[in-house]
Amino acid sequence: MAVAWRCAQRGMRVVVRDPAPGSGASGVAAGMLAPVAEAYFGERELTGLLVASAARWPGFAAELTAASGVDLGYRTEGTLVVGLTGDDLAEARRLWAYQQELGLAITPLRPGQLRDREPLLAPRVRGGAWAPGDHQVDPRRLVDALRVAAERAGVTIVPEPVRQLSDVDRQGPVVVAAGCATAGLTGLPVRPVKGQLLRLRTPDGAAPGFRHVIRGYVDGQQVYLVPRADGEVVVGATVEERADRQVTADAVLRLLRAAVELVPGLAEYELVEAAAGLRPGTPDNAPALGPLPGRPEVVVAAGHHRHGIVLTPLTADLITDLISTGVPDPQLAAFRPDRFTTDRIVEGQPWS
Ligand SMILES: Cc1cc2nc3c(=O)[nH]c(=O)nc-3n(C[C@H](O)[C@H](O)[C@H](O)COP(=O)(O)OP(=O)(O)OC[C@H]3O[C@@H](n4cnc5c(N)ncnc54)[C@H](O)[C@@H]3O)c2cc1C
Repeated sequence: MAVAWRCAQRGMRVVVRDPAPGSGASGVAAGMLAPVAEAYFGERELTGLLVASAARWPGFAAELTAASGVDLGYRTEGTLVVGLTGDDLAEARRLWAYQQELGLAITPLRPGQLRDREPLLAPRVRGGAWAPGDHQVDPRRLVDALRVAAERAGVTIVPEPVRQLSDVDRQGPVVVAAGCATAGLTGLPVRPVKGQLLRLRTPDGAAPGFRHVIRGYVDGQQVYLVPRADGEVVVGATVEERADRQVTADAVLRLLRAAVELVPGLAEYELVEAAAGLRPGTPDNAPALGPLPGRPEVVVAAGHHRHGIVLTPLTADLITDLISTGVPDPQLAAFRPDRFTTDRIVEGQPWS
């Protein structure tokens, strides 16, 4: 929908075929815009893409809000990453050291400094760090806003599925941005990675008593808490190599236990939703952005895995530039869909 909006702004005639916009991972996601806290070992190029997209978020949010009239719930207080036990803190510190080596902004804080920022944190929390550039947005509002802005810019939304590429590929350039369904349409290796999360709400409908996104290492498990100004708190998320969307009692139990360990006051909140979504993952967990191998008229924008919300502005801009100029931006080089065509490891043959 973001690509459609951007293309229509450039004067292109755009038709979106989607039976239910917002029904995929984007309608479940937490909405963390976290290039720093999500900078993991071995993902340097992906981290660069996340940083570049996060830098576009302030301008993108302002423009989209003005174009749609929808409040995106975009918040810039930043993220606290905390460790509950000594072991949890040791694990978190290794990653902060790596993130600092990359030049990313993450500042360790002592327990007293943490509680000055967020007094509701449990006294047991051993330490943490602040990532001021890791912001958040409400993805459901984002999808609503994009739909309104796209339609106002002249995009036609046809609520029907594309069953195969030949349904559409004779009508001009095609962008396949169908999340996990991209695999069936293109043959690219996009796999579902299940994530379960919960939505809580303050008992009185007021804003939650904490303002930062809080990401916790809790007795060896990771959990995040995303407070929204409208009283919602998102608690997430599991990462499961599964393709079903069932919510399990075990996931609800673990997420709630970890959340309440970090912020005990959450036990008083109302549990309003438990949901599961399917992240579109690729073999290297980075998105596939660019022409489909052997089909230059078909452009893929899929496989965003854990990062589709933060990557929205940059994906839309780079894909729109590619369609309008035919020239790929250098930032796309590491994310070409054809990088997966030589993935087979055959015993006895050298790896390429
Ligand atoms: C629990 C969870 C938490 C997450 N948290 C974050 C987060 O904090 N920050 C972040 O950046 N990312 C997060 N993500 C990841 C993010 O949600 C995804 O990367 C992103 O939503 C992918 O967007 P998409 O548009 O590619 O796919 P989707 O949102 O899945 O959308 C796919 C669309 O394609 C449509 N479609 C499917 N098949 C067809 C067809 N045949 N024809 C036409 N249309 C079709 C569907 O109706 C749907 O609208 C999270 C994901 C999950 C599951």
